[in-house]
Amino acid sequence: MKKALFLDRDGTLIIDKHYLADPAGVELIPGVITGLQRARELGFLLFLFTNQSGIGRGYHTLADAEACNRRMLELLGLGDELFTDICIAPESSDQPVEFRKPSPRFIHDSMTMHALDPAQCWMVGDRESDIEAGLNAGIHAAAVCTGKYDQATWQEKFIPGMKLFSNFAEFAEWLAAG
Ligand SMILES: [Mg+2]
Repeated sequence: MKKALFLDRDGTLIIDKHYLADPAGVELIPGVITGLQRARELGFLLFLFTNQSGIGRGYHTLADAEACNRRMLELLGLGDELFTDICIAPESSDQPVEFRKPSPRFIHDSMTMHALDPAQCWMVGDRESDIEAGLNAGIHAAAVCTGKYDQATWQEKFIPGMKLFSNFAEFAEWLAAG
């Protein structure tokens, strides 16, 4: 069975700019290129799993979110096929939920479709909804301090079962250390 990382986008891979719609605003968080390379070398499939409630709220379109993803891939320079699959959850918080984190739906679907081993899969993100999506799906969950919360705040908000890292690069190094 295969192993995989499910990665949040805003606050985890790129700087969270709240309802980012303009690809010119995409800015990588330091260390993510090395971290993603490392994860790939370790044999992890990579999935992008991003809540984009700005679509549901009518602030921007799905095409805007896709354009930002393309810009992120361009800046990463790790190939257009870096992610095995991408889920952009468009629901706003007051709309019926299909994919919006903490729903585990995308992770569940991907585990089935790609024969992933839940014991070797992680959801990585900067918010409670990321951690809960991972734990709801029965995989591991790692929080990073490059988005909504700093280290001290995450320690206060600690969710049983999660692991805490200062950033994605540190998480990837920890994975590599086995
Ligand atoms: Mg985020």
